[in-house]
Amino acid sequence: MADHLSCRVLIAGAGPAGCAVALYLLQRRPDLKGHVVALERGRHPRMKVCAGGLIPKTIQALAELDLPLDVPAVSVRRGIARTEVGEVDYLGSGVLCTVVRRDQFDARLARAASEAGLRLVENCRVVDVETSDSGVLVHTTDGDFAAEILVGADGSGSRVRDSLFRRDQQWVGRALMLDVPVSSRCLDNFAQTPYIFDFTCVAAGISGYSWSFPCLIEGRPHLNVGIYDQHPGRAVVPGEHKADLLDGLAAAFPQLPIPSTHRRGYKAFPIRWYAPEQSFVRGRVLLAGDAAGVDPLMGEGISYAFEHGKLAAQAIDDFLSGKPTALADYDRALHHGAVARKLRRLSFAARRFYGPRHKLYFRLASLSRGTQRIGIDWYNGVDNLDEAPVSSLLARWAKAVLLRTPMG
Ligand SMILES: Cc1cc2nc3c(=O)[nH]c(=O)nc-3n(C[C@H](O)[C@H](O)[C@H](O)COP(=O)(O)OP(=O)(O)OC[C@H]3O[C@@H](n4cnc5c(N)ncnc54)[C@H](O)[C@@H]3O)c2cc1C
Repeated sequence: MADHLSCRVLIAGAGPAGCAVALYLLQRRPDLKGHVVALERGRHPRMKVCAGGLIPKTIQALAELDLPLDVPAVSVRRGIARTEVGEVDYLGSGVLCTVVRRDQFDARLARAASEAGLRLVENCRVVDVETSDSGVLVHTTDGDFAAEILVGADGSGSRVRDSLFRRDQQWVGRALMLDVPVSSRCLDNFAQTPYIFDFTCVAAGISGYSWSFPCLIEGRPHLNVGIYDQHPGRAVVPGEHKADLLDGLAAAFPQLPIPSTHRRGYKAFPIRWYAPEQSFVRGRVLLAGDAAGVDPLMGEGISYAFEHGKLAAQAIDDFLSGKPTALADYDRALHHGAVARKLRRLSFAARRFYGPRHKLYFRLASLSRGTQRIGIDWYNGVDNLDEAPVSSLLARWAKAVLLRTPMG
């Protein structure tokens, strides 16, 4: 054990989950300054295939961490959802989504974490992990690192996960995207551009949706468009035809120059989604963010990166303070806590909206504006509604349906 660097807490991956673990931990335990190390395969600012939509829950997490969102961003207040049974045009009472570019956002998080006391080792790829009762030894392209605790925050294709946990591809979705410049004719109203979710591809066998998000690339307005499929290897109705993802995307946005035959210009990436059958802790190793699994319905993962980061920081703090069951508590929280409950409900919704009876569920969802507002606020975590008990959600829902509450 001589030729390695030792630290107390090691984090594999410095994306949102890895940085969130570091930021929350160093906020709780400033004495750990210099003793928390993150190993990052790339070098910030590094490209990340992502639409960069931050839901209000994520903005709340940034506020908790005293972190200003001082990177270029577009605030979206209007949303359009298209399904095979019609279209819903929704104007929120506040910001529905803040769209950033991930290279800039992640670099900002990494800088904040470094300023808080994280030691960031870039261009360093985790290759393998060994565990013992007293800690972990991580083999990397830049030598070995020993620590008391390891957090696997290295994304959907987590090396930490593959080294120590069950390898399983059945919970991995796929998304692809491209950026389309906005024509100068549409520039005047760019600030009012809605985000669009188009679920019509479900009828074509794809378990997901296409999106269009307004964004800024080097100060110039663009639309980030893409398509998500929760089950890339499976059609919505088993045995029936499943459309190609690119054809599904082109069909959703026929007015945009989306080449459907040549794949050039697209970027694709897996999204690991939450499945409660999994374990999230093994010995002194915890999984967080995409490595643990995120929203199966929409593939949203940045808010979970922060939620996992907060829970992991609490568990690590408790463990280092002498509570031997603290890491098991983290596993329990990811199975039964508020985040787990939200993810289980999203799994339930995904099975309905992306199942053979999808038309019925889209029709039910289109019936009440009040219900839509509650659903969107719940999804976005507005006023921590996503953590409220079912009884209070049902009471709100009944009120919305009975009184036909107008949209906010
Ligand atoms: C096309 C697409 C669009 C999306 N759009 C949205 C969206 O609009 N909003 C949203 O909330 N979510 C979105 N997501 C999901 C979101 O990108 C992820 O949930 C989020 O990035 C998870 O953060 P993370 O830190 O867990 O993982 P990552 O962001 O993947 O970060 C992992 C980090 O680990 C590093 N790493 C990987 N392997 C190693 C290794 N072996 N050694 C060291 N470092 C390693 C990587 O370089 C990276 O920096 C989208 C995903 C895709 C694919």
